Amino acid sequence: MQKEIVICEECLSQYYKNASMMTELCPECSHILYNYINCEHSFQNGHCLYCYWDGSQSDYIKSIK
Ligand SMILES: [Zn+2]
Ligand SMILES: [Zn+2]
Repeated sequence: MQKEIVICEECLSQYYKNASMMTELCPECSHILYNYINCEHSFQNGHCLYCYWDGSQSDYIKSIK
């Protein structure tokens, strides 16, 4: 099964669509903004192995973290 890659509306990172509970946010942003379960990120070559997030954070996310 091919993993569909989409862009997070908040941090503009790519992520695997089925790795997130939300359709327009990566697991990281959906966790911070809406308290959904975050991915246990494991980075390899600049992307998380599980959700493909690249570590990007929007200014808004940084400000509330
Ligand atoms: Zn995001
Ligand atoms: Zn991850």
